[in-house]
Amino acid sequence: MTSRAIFPIKNTMHEPEHLVIRPPSEARSLLVRTVRGCNWNRCLFCGIYDLFGTPYSTRSLDEVIKDIDALHDIYGDIFKTAFIGDANPISLDTEFLVTVLTHLRERFPRVQRVTSYGRASSLQKKTVEELRAIHEAGLDRVHVGLESGSDAVLKLQVKGTNQKQLIEAGLKTMLSGMELSYYFLSGLGGQDLWEEHARESARVFTEVKPHFIRVRRLYIHPMSRLMAKLRSGEFREQTPEGTVLELRALIDHLDAEGTTFTTDHANNYLQVHGTLNAEKTAMLGMIDSFLALPEHRRVEHYNSTPSVI
Ligand code: SF4
Repeated sequence: MTSRAIFPIKNTMHEPEHLVIRPPSEARSLLVRTVRGCNWNRCLFCGIYDLFGTPYSTRSLDEVIKDIDALHDIYGDIFKTAFIGDANPISLDTEFLVTVLTHLRERFPRVQRVTSYGRASSLQKKTVEELRAIHEAGLDRVHVGLESGSDAVLKLQVKGTNQKQLIEAGLKTMLSGMELSYYFLSGLGGQDLWEEHARESARVFTEVKPHFIRVRRLYIHPMSRLMAKLRSGEFREQTPEGTVLELRALIDHLDAEGTTFTTDHANNYLQVHGTLNAEKTAMLGMIDSFLALPEHRRVEHYNSTPSVI
């Protein structure tokens, strides 16, 4: 779901701070840091901000505004898209965000789309009116790591949220007018909870009908807390074939008219894309065709798929 953000920096009076990560789709975007790290930072499978030595801390409004001005001095008004980070700018005060977004839009009038990451718990804490104000100030889309809609999986992975919150946060975001991109992390329930993981996630997606459902496959980093659970046997990693069956079960349970479904990352075993519900049958058919291949062909395919996110 992420890529390292790199800026070529020229000399300037004030050097803007860099993000740790951004979505791959924001590779050419203006990147603005509104907050450092993740205010939750406890998900067992993650640890990205620990890896890059970035503990959570807030920034002053003055610092962020100076960053935006400095980015304008360095690059000029050349960007068509912008991304604000790090992990959860939605946790910031609404007024702070509105001021930052308004300034960003004023300094970079050619920007056509601004997006950010956001935790469902932070979205749920805001009113629809607050989210609408943030949207009207310039935030077009929020990328939310739902990961799973299953309370059991969310608890196991210390995600710090639950199904009810995911549904409420999603519905509020949709009402605000912002685009919602929900991320599903396949394999997160391991071998023991995969059916519930697929079924309960589909339940959230069906209730919310987000604009996008994006699928990523779990990669267990050697330094992550989940690796310790894997080594101790507390977590049984999903098999490649199980991952494909899980994807099939997820799609099969979905009823989300108008939602774009996409496994738009190279670490997925199958590239499945379509608009729900019209293309649901075709997506299931594509998976079934793959599962009908001889075993050695499927194994060959699994072995040739990269793991890292
Ligand atoms: S909320 Fe996101 S960034 Fe924060 S620890 Fe969890 S997965 Fe990582």
